[in-house]
Amino acid sequence: MSIQVELPDGSELEVEEHATIEDVAYEIGTGLGDDTVAGKINSELVAKEENVSEGDEIEIVTDQSDEYIQVLRHSAAHVFAQALKRIYGDDVKLTIGPWTDEGFYYDIEGIEIEEEDFEEIEEEMQKIVEENLEIEREMLPREEAEEFFEDNEYKREILNNEAGEGDEVSFYKQGEFKDLCKGPHVSSTGEVEGFKLLEIAGAYWRGDEENEMLTRVYGTAFPTESKLEDFLEKKREAEKRDHRKIGKEMDLFSVPEHAPGAPHYHRAGMTIRRELEEYIREKNKELGYEEVWTPELNKAELWKKTGHYEAFKEEGEMFAWEQDDTEYGLKPMNCANHSHIFDSDKRSYKELPIKLSEFGTVNRNEQSGELSGLLRVRVLTQDDGHAYMRKDQIEEEVKAHLEKIIEMYDEFGFEVNFIMETKPPKAQGPDELWDEAETALKNALEEKVDDYEIKPEEGAFYGPKIGVEVEDAIGREWQLGTVQLDFVIPRNYGLKYVGKDNEEHYPVMLHRAILGSIERFMGVMIEHFAGDFPTWLAPEQVRILPVTDDNINYAREIQEELDDFRVEIESRSWTVGKKIQAAHDDNVPYMLILGDDEEEAGNLSVRDRKEREESDISVEEFRERLRDEVEEKKLRTDFLN
Ligand SMILES: [Zn+2]
Ligand SMILES: [Zn+2]
Repeated sequence: MSIQVELPDGSELEVEEHATIEDVAYEIGTGLGDDTVAGKINSELVAKEENVSEGDEIEIVTDQSDEYIQVLRHSAAHVFAQALKRIYGDDVKLTIGPWTDEGFYYDIEGIEIEEEDFEEIEEEMQKIVEENLEIEREMLPREEAEEFFEDNEYKREILNNEAGEGDEVSFYKQGEFKDLCKGPHVSSTGEVEGFKLLEIAGAYWRGDEENEMLTRVYGTAFPTESKLEDFLEKKREAEKRDHRKIGKEMDLFSVPEHAPGAPHYHRAGMTIRRELEEYIREKNKELGYEEVWTPELNKAELWKKTGHYEAFKEEGEMFAWEQDDTEYGLKPMNCANHSHIFDSDKRSYKELPIKLSEFGTVNRNEQSGELSGLLRVRVLTQDDGHAYMRKDQIEEEVKAHLEKIIEMYDEFGFEVNFIMETKPPKAQGPDELWDEAETALKNALEEKVDDYEIKPEEGAFYGPKIGVEVEDAIGREWQLGTVQLDFVIPRNYGLKYVGKDNEEHYPVMLHRAILGSIERFMGVMIEHFAGDFPTWLAPEQVRILPVTDDNINYAREIQEELDDFRVEIESRSWTVGKKIQAAHDDNVPYMLILGDDEEEAGNLSVRDRKEREESDISVEEFRERLRDEVEEKKLRTDFLN
């Protein structure tokens, strides 16, 4: 008997019943058969020994496939487990060890290990790699497997729950080491050329806090040492830029235990936030927005009217409670309140578009495990805005917004990518409105953007969407702003305007956040600049360093003359060298070094953070150059010769 399977190019292939992935590969070509590492059956990664069935979609995985790295990393986890067994013998109980996006981890029990032990374990792993042991799949009768794991209740649990129903279960064997495993694996331990253990954490068995706490060891692996080095270099760079670390060093913000996911802005962080808000306010004005403010606390019925209640409350994402027999909540979005303002007066087609903006603070009950610094929070302030317009205004409005988005991100030195998401299967609102709106969005993108991506059918049920993804200074991508059309809220809420025809019509609603949320944008921006902010954003723009304590009065005079800027005096009795170092460490853009010579001549010696110096500058000259840099919001400091 033979069966048909489908290949990635859509063609059908006839193979023997019970053929394996490897058989399919040989059927396609001998070369491919020899190179087969694993396969995919209906998108699921499986071992090459796996049987295929009638109608399956099959892909062959070789060492050239994207999936190879996953297979390799899982093999690295086995190499790690084998090394542990060699060092700690039967004391160590192995549980699970899957691959992850960044490498692999292994959860273990029974031994105490610390990061200091990594070197010894890695040495043993290196031996196993050099032994180049063949990794073979072996089918074992279930009873034998039970016996094998006599002392390991975790593996027995996996055996009874996840290891299929058959009489035999699959093991993988490399040298003296053997483990219950579905695979797939690379063909020998020698392929795990570049590996490294990274850190230790705690993890509950099966992620359930009722269960035993296990030790989780994270590691990573690559097919070559040089790829591993690249990864480690990027990781070090990212760690250096970690906004939580910089936030602490520069005293920008904190997320205290009493307020999980709710950042507190300290003086320096608030200075940056205020600058950002002023900047956005200016841009909103240019786009024709009127600023409003709406409360966080509302009756839940408000969101029942717009449909947010269903979406947020039932997902457990909304903070809501009963008070005096009425259900109240904290707003998870600003759209409903802005719709109230639109609805508070009779609107005519002549007034449209009506654009409302707000630094809108919203609260969302994110899972506590997901919270992270400024990037994943529960309390956030969006640079939110809603435009209520006629459908013939969509294209023009979207164009204006795209233009502004490009302009704004460029001023921070971010590269922007646009992603358009189109009508999903569960769309609501009139079909012809969807068609017109999607055409308008496409026209706007075609005109304003060099290149954009389309994700078909991924729009929201209420309207199509353009997502803004930015690339930071070290090439990482972040999803930040968005422009979305909405045909549903105006209908749910009953928003109307009187048209030229004297009839009532529903406006089209446009939701937009340009930077997204202040919190997330700040987090991304801190990492993007590595704390070394452009002068207009720097919490401390100038630090005056008196050479001796005798120069302090002159320093105060200069500080007063520069009172348009954020200027501090270094008053600690340190050497000039030490003062310069401290200003550097604090990422201060400009230092004024004032000694007796400067005081006598009534001028300044200036040093910037790129270690350029210039003396004999008059206060007026310095003030002018600095004003120019700040007002122009220049990204780089380059006014010193
Ligand atoms: Zn395994
Ligand atoms: Zn909205």
